[in-house]
Amino acid sequence: MSTTYEYKGDYINGEFIRPSRKDGEWSNVSPGDLKDRVVSIDWGYESIDSAVLSACSAFVKWRRLSFDQRKEYLFKLKEVYTEHKEELAEAISRETGKPLWEARTEAGGMIGKIDITLNHSMKLVAEQRIENALPNVDGVIHYKPRGVMAVIGPFNFPGHLPNGHIIPALALGNTIVFKPSEKTPYVGQLMAQLFHKAGFPKGVFNLLQGQGETGKRLVAHEKVDGVLFTGSYDVGLRIKQETIQHYWKLLALEMGGKNTCIVWDDADLEKAVYENIAGSFLTSGQRCSCTSKIVLHKSIADKFIENFHQTAKKLKIGHWKQDDVFMGPLISEGSVDNYLRFQEIAKREGAENIMRGKVLELNPGGHYVTPSIHRVAKNDPQSIYQKSEIFGPNVCIYTVDDFDEAIEVANTSGFGLVTSVFTKDQSLYEKAWLEARVGLLNWNRTTNGASSRMPFGGMGKSGNDRPSAHFAVQYCSVPVSSLEDQTTFNPESVFPGVDYEFK
Ligand code: NAP
Repeated sequence: MSTTYEYKGDYINGEFIRPSRKDGEWSNVSPGDLKDRVVSIDWGYESIDSAVLSACSAFVKWRRLSFDQRKEYLFKLKEVYTEHKEELAEAISRETGKPLWEARTEAGGMIGKIDITLNHSMKLVAEQRIENALPNVDGVIHYKPRGVMAVIGPFNFPGHLPNGHIIPALALGNTIVFKPSEKTPYVGQLMAQLFHKAGFPKGVFNLLQGQGETGKRLVAHEKVDGVLFTGSYDVGLRIKQETIQHYWKLLALEMGGKNTCIVWDDADLEKAVYENIAGSFLTSGQRCSCTSKIVLHKSIADKFIENFHQTAKKLKIGHWKQDDVFMGPLISEGSVDNYLRFQEIAKREGAENIMRGKVLELNPGGHYVTPSIHRVAKNDPQSIYQKSEIFGPNVCIYTVDDFDEAIEVANTSGFGLVTSVFTKDQSLYEKAWLEARVGLLNWNRTTNGASSRMPFGGMGKSGNDRPSAHFAVQYCSVPVSSLEDQTTFNPESVFPGVDYEFK
């Protein structure tokens, strides 16, 4: 049994501090082994103001550094992340229950993000000179930081996703107050320790521990200039409501998904089945980009379903330390209840149950469930089962023979993150590109897994048109236009009606 991690408190102005007045406490157990107490945390709301003020005063100096100077700090962080990669991966696995091989990929993504941001994405915000922007006057577009960025992280990628906002924000000269999910506080603490080790100036990176209320108070703080949020649609909407009067505040909201994969009659079926297994059940379905709906052309449906079902039945589920495990547990008891509730809702609404989702008793005991597969007779925009993000290993199958109908299924839920199309016919892919209301459209590959070298964001209930990943540098900065006029005064340019005589 692993030992409980030492809790250090919030990280403010370069130091870990415990609140003098406690407003709450919480003990976190590993979802993969309910006897494994990971960390016990406590918090006080007074720290919110201190963390924001620390980030405000650090901003004054941090933004004045040249890009090359900030780059040095970030490359040092890359070194420190690399040294501690295994520790990061273990903390991610222990807190989320995801298999270690998967957490290692996440820790690798955190390291990779630094090079990608500095060497690739920053080109999007490179200074641009525009000759003769006005007659005989040159223009310059340059990008400056916004100020204090509140980063609110989800539990499912507790390192990679907040890091994906933090690195570009820092590269541009912003400072950070990061609040991790209450379900993954130790990953947040470890990140703060690594920033400390990398020697960042005091106050540039701050950490606040707590639950939803801490996040709510942080985003509503008057001195926060931007909120970089990854989480559910409901919380994203609340953040928008809570900041409605803060006209100056940038909101980048990366929210939920209800993603569709269309498999057409000419598809490589062997590949499509495998990719859909990964799409539907990786991370136990707890990815915003997981596949929730598979739309099959009628002519290949039986063969697809048979292979898909047989493979799903054999998926290995277990503790994160086991080598050959594909799926870990769900994150919490609440998530298991929610998953089982949707099994009931699907049944009540008349969905055919191809594979039943149930609780799995394993040793050690955790929040384990089996994957589930349903089939519905038709697309129903009113169906609670068909339109809700379940965030568990469930997938719903539709069969159609008309591509317009397939697109209609993809566009029904109101979420708009990813759609995938398996076909050899480029014109169908192009049609989907035009008609599917999504921020990511994949061709012959699963809905999940994305490149940090490309934008990542959704339409509708999945986002607010501020795509992250490669494009994060854009919302972390303000483009400033300058007209640079080096000409001497020209009397010919005086406006009619102005009697101008300089003495
Ligand atoms: P969540 O419940 O929305 O929580 C996200 C974060 O918001 C947590 O840190 C949470 O704190 C905090 N929070 C809760 N209430 C708040 C409030 N009123 N104001 C400010 N912050 C508040 O999401 P989750 O369960 O952690 O993550 C799963 C969700 O994230 C899914 O919907 C998934 O699709 C989405 N997601 C989206 C993307 C994307 O890129 N589009 C990527 C990954 C995940 P506590 O946890 O302490 O309550």
